[in-house]
Amino acid sequence: MRDMMRPDWFELVPKIELHLHLEGAIPPAILWELIQKYGGDPTVPDSAALEAKLRYRDFPQFLETWMWKNQYLREYEDFERIGEAVALHLASQNVVYAEIFFSAPDFRRRGLATQKLAAAVREGLDRVEQLDISLVADLVRDYGPDDAMTTLPELAEAKDDLDIVGIGIGGSEHEFPPEPFAAVYEEARALGFHTSAHAGEGAGPESIWGAIRALQVERIGHGTRAAEDAVLVDYLGEHRIPLEMCPVSNLRTGVVESIEAHPIKQFLDRGLCVTVNTDDPAMFNTSLAAEFEALVDVLGFDTATLRRVTENALEAAWCRRGLIAALRATRAGSLTCRSRRAHRPVAPAQLAREGGAGGGLRRERSTHHCGALVALVRIAGQGRQEALGEVLILQVVEGPRIALTLDACGA
Ligand SMILES: [Zn+2]
Repeated sequence: MRDMMRPDWFELVPKIELHLHLEGAIPPAILWELIQKYGGDPTVPDSAALEAKLRYRDFPQFLETWMWKNQYLREYEDFERIGEAVALHLASQNVVYAEIFFSAPDFRRRGLATQKLAAAVREGLDRVEQLDISLVADLVRDYGPDDAMTTLPELAEAKDDLDIVGIGIGGSEHEFPPEPFAAVYEEARALGFHTSAHAGEGAGPESIWGAIRALQVERIGHGTRAAEDAVLVDYLGEHRIPLEMCPVSNLRTGVVESIEAHPIKQFLDRGLCVTVNTDDPAMFNTSLAAEFEALVDVLGFDTATLRRVTENALEAAWCRRGLIAALRATRAGSLTCRSRRAHRPVAPAQLAREGGAGGGLRRERSTHHCGALVALVRIAGQGRQEALGEVLILQVVEGPRIALTLDACGA
């Protein structure tokens, strides 16, 4: 199949990213700028040295580099800068919708207020109109449940204005199991947040069971080590609990020995709601396009499998501004999306208005030279939701199938 695909297919095909840490996605050139802004670091004399320092070697070095890098994020405007840079990088590989973690607790200790930090990130993200991005607050498990509990009200006050759709706990999974965070997750749900937790990456299947039973999470961050527990794999499949899988990250951190050994294909074959994501792309030297490419080259994924991964991401997404729910509602007549903000049916005329001034629905079909069915339905108009609309309306028109649209990106 690879021979039939143009080399830039992976960049062009529309993609959805659900597990990406803002602070692990800063393009090296932007990080270099920030380091210089604060006087430089003599141990990192040039950008080549920076790239070498960012390259993953082992987990202690990764954590050390993570903290080192964070010291160059000191002012709110730095978060605007990285928000914009990360959004541009996503747009450049045709990611049409993303949910991005930001780790405010790491920076509160450096004097930055959670709401102001989130507002700065949002400001930067919104400068890029090609894609739609929701925020997910990483409460960082290493600071403990009491700290997480105090952060929640601040997030709740800002969540509608800044589109903070969910919460999660990243950090040292093996040292901080999920169970003590049960009350935090209960409170988060009461405040209207969606929930995910990193589990089955640093720790084994018991951490995934803990996230499901004690935290009642909607999604699992990674979930890779579920492969060690057949009962758990069945459970994840039966309940369609989405997994935010990050194959290259797992390779770099040693969770798997090779991409060949990654359980992602096995999980997909068993009907699990698997999504593909990048985690910390700047530190793991990856991108969503590169992840797709690795899955095709190493695990023999075909376009139908990649389409299924994208369908899964759409199913698992926590919807911004109700667009997904609105689109599904127009077809199904009832809401299938869990978004708290879109509990209203939307008439086609209104849909057209949401697509932009003078908008309307347009529908086209063709077959691309790579063999993938191309079905393109576009909300005509100049609205910022246009690219997202292309993918989502396919869900409406195609029912359970999304045709990955190459035409949508001018291929
Ligand atoms: Zn992560």
